[in-house]
Amino acid sequence: MFLLDFLVPRHCAFCGVLAIHDERNICVNCFDDLPWHETAISPTPGILECSIAMLHYEFPVDVAIKALKFNRRLFYAPAFAEVLCAANPHLPTDIDAVLPVPLHWRRKMRRGFNQASELAKPVADALNVEQLRGVDRCKATPYQSGLKAFERRRNLRRAFTVRKQLQHKHVLIIDDVVTTGTTLSELAKVLLRNGAEKVSALTVASAR
Ligand SMILES: [Zn+2]
Repeated sequence: MFLLDFLVPRHCAFCGVLAIHDERNICVNCFDDLPWHETAISPTPGILECSIAMLHYEFPVDVAIKALKFNRRLFYAPAFAEVLCAANPHLPTDIDAVLPVPLHWRRKMRRGFNQASELAKPVADALNVEQLRGVDRCKATPYQSGLKAFERRRNLRRAFTVRKQLQHKHVLIIDDVVTTGTTLSELAKVLLRNGAEKVSALTVASAR
């Protein structure tokens, strides 16, 4: 924690209530009121060892995620990281690396940050594992919303590359929203082809 964190009072990202010294940027009431999935663990498409989505993609989560991504409302990131960390008791115990879904460099440059990286850092710290480096998005895929499953798969073919053989055995992919799961499974396939033995996924919300 930086000195500034002690000096600047923090406000809840959702209701604005003052939450002094609270690093999470979300007050207890708003945290409890989020649209939590009753069971966070989703049925996993074969390729993933375990797939967890914490929240329903509905108000206020949808608005907040869009504000984070497209309007640089970065104060939502610690709040959603806290949501992801609530999954810890349900995660497999042999995870040894965390990987935010990579953004293509051009999109990252335009946006200024990768929202998945902002979410992944606190999760890696909480699990005491490192963030995986050297996985890139080499294809600037168009926005996937509104596309059919086969169109998403076609867009994502060969979208990710791994620079060198992975040393980690069980990689946890982090993303903000899962819709059809195509991005997660395409990324998982690449990791499995390059040395990972198992891949799991953890997302803030699912729009299914
Ligand atoms: Zn609040």
